[in-house]
Amino acid sequence: MIKKILIANRGEIACRIIRTAKALGISTVAVYSDADANSQHVKQADEAVYLGGSAASESYLRGDLILEHAKRLNVDAIHPGYGFLSENAAFSQACQEKGVAFIGPGPEAIRAMGSKSAAKAIMEKAGVPLVPGYHGDEQSPAFLHEQARKMSYPVLLKAAAGGGGKGMRQVHKDEDFLAALEAAKREAMASFSDNHMLIEKYLTQPRHVEIQVFCDNHGNGVYLFERDCSVQRRHQKIIEEAPAPGMFDTLRKQMGEAALKAAKAINYSGAGTVEFLLDSDGRFYFMEMNTRLQVEHPVTEMITSEDLVAWQIQVADNQRLPKSQDELSFNGHAFEARIYAEDPDNEFLPATGVLNYVKIPQGDGIRVDTGVVSQDEVSIYYDPMIAKLIAHGENREQALLKLIKALNDYHIVGVTSNIDYLLRVASSDAFTQAQLTTDFVERHADALKKPELASDLESLSMLAYASLVCERAEQNDENTSQARSANTPFSKFAGFRLNHRLEPSCHIELEGETHVLSCLLSDENASRHNQRVFSFAHAQAEKAAEDSSEQRVRISELSNPELSESTDSFQHLKCRIQVDLKQYHLDIIRKGQSLHLFTSDKHLIAKIPDKDLGEDSEAHGAGEIAAPMNGTVVDILVKSGDKVSKGDAIAIVEAMKMEHSLKAPFDGTVGECFFQAGERVDGGATLLIVEADE
Ligand code: ADP
Repeated sequence: MIKKILIANRGEIACRIIRTAKALGISTVAVYSDADANSQHVKQADEAVYLGGSAASESYLRGDLILEHAKRLNVDAIHPGYGFLSENAAFSQACQEKGVAFIGPGPEAIRAMGSKSAAKAIMEKAGVPLVPGYHGDEQSPAFLHEQARKMSYPVLLKAAAGGGGKGMRQVHKDEDFLAALEAAKREAMASFSDNHMLIEKYLTQPRHVEIQVFCDNHGNGVYLFERDCSVQRRHQKIIEEAPAPGMFDTLRKQMGEAALKAAKAINYSGAGTVEFLLDSDGRFYFMEMNTRLQVEHPVTEMITSEDLVAWQIQVADNQRLPKSQDELSFNGHAFEARIYAEDPDNEFLPATGVLNYVKIPQGDGIRVDTGVVSQDEVSIYYDPMIAKLIAHGENREQALLKLIKALNDYHIVGVTSNIDYLLRVASSDAFTQAQLTTDFVERHADALKKPELASDLESLSMLAYASLVCERAEQNDENTSQARSANTPFSKFAGFRLNHRLEPSCHIELEGETHVLSCLLSDENASRHNQRVFSFAHAQAEKAAEDSSEQRVRISELSNPELSESTDSFQHLKCRIQVDLKQYHLDIIRKGQSLHLFTSDKHLIAKIPDKDLGEDSEAHGAGEIAAPMNGTVVDILVKSGDKVSKGDAIAIVEAMKMEHSLKAPFDGTVGECFFQAGERVDGGATLLIVEADE
């Protein structure tokens, strides 16, 4: 009987497992590294043990140490989550040998699926359809090149040990093959210490459809239907859903049975996922089997109302599967959107930092799996996923509406996130119409691009208003600490003269462009409702046209701004306003010079320029190419004196196990280079200079 579980993981998945364990009355032990000493998973578990340094190799990958703690603390079973030790056959075996149940399959099954090429050989034998390609042992570049030519381009290079899209490269032209092979091998070596490659025919517009399987130790196996995970960036999933749109019963059954055949071929036990590529003509091909719980398991849970972690624990406890195939059914539709700390407008570069403010959406059918709250940090050490937002509805349309609303209600300040990007994906015509293919992101890149900035007068006025109330709150804070105790920090608004232009004007910087707005505070309705009404206008426009044709935006306060949090560099204010005929709930967050404004459907970020700083206080001149984050220089592709054209790749930096190529910002000539391949570089440091052509 399993009474105590150690969770050999961190973040959202550790919290997710703790939740089910608690519901089952099982006690939990968390493990943590230096960086995670104050993490949510540590706080939520009954006990927690320290492992070591922040690098995964010193903590979450220390299988020996984790098992030692498990024995010492009388743990019955270890749940590895996903990533880290979850697909480590040696660890599963060590658990077996030490008499601690591993919540996952045995070492043989993990080993069989651990290498994509070995897995393909097993599946071929079991009669599961495969993507055409080469998955043999011969690895010389010339031989692999020959194989690629034979199958004709485009091809996909994959690391046999791969995962998370790492060590993968598409090759479309023969002349690019060798360079792509080298880059893929390098990335595979850095991530998996193994650069064995396989080559597959690159299917141009398939869908990624995967089947959730479950097997017990008594010979039973079922499939819990499918998930469509076609929407990906860099071969990593961003929005998943279940069931797959357009799926019909016979195909579902065929794919489900093929997946079970794959599981049976390796004598599988526990939760597993068999990934397929599905062609537009309904043909499907085995891609790989993941021998663990997947990140996206919640969409299956939402439509089946089953708890997959509870199933895993029962199987590890040698019990039979809770349901047979005939007893399983699904209901409605579910989406999962992965909220990452990353910058989608800058090649999805991972972001790090402190989450100054996080507001999590709530609602019927909304589930958020996360391991962080306000003030937690997204560190450089681990995957930059902040949360998974899951929405369930009666059908796809309804679930999608809920997803969009919840994304709008998810507010994060402090770390760049992909929420606005996810909103663009979820609201796009192609996604609404379920035109799902794995090239979705590239194919619809134009439609998904950040729209032209909302520098319309209405948005600018709202920002100017927000900046004024922040400034006001700060002054109140400094001047009258007793006034702060009132929820209305500026009930007097003493510094404003009614019916006078405010001086100085509001400066709002949006995407590098500074707008100057003038503001008039009037007492209209003031006596009746104690309302203040602000009128904003572009200062320049005002000069040009002093007459009544001047365009103005009126903002009436429907409630006094309430200060909910304030520190030296951070303020959070809430209020309700009316702009023309529309009413908004405003969440205003000021962090240093940046100003975030959230309404139910807008997220505006602006800078309040520091009036004391000169115009040229920018940290980097236009031609300084800076490292995007802490990392290692993989290659400088140019040398001093080289001519470059805008968009040319000029340097490669590896950070968080991913390679990022830096591009020339304009046509020009390379000036000084400050770094060489192999050197460590701090984020923000100048790598080299490009001088613009005249
Ligand atoms: P990883 O284990 O690194 O996640 P996978 O083998 O699961 O790699 O593939 C990840 C994604 O790459 C798939 O979901 C799919 O979008 C794409 N992909 C993989 N193989 C092919 C292929 N042969 N043709 C086209 N796309 C592919």
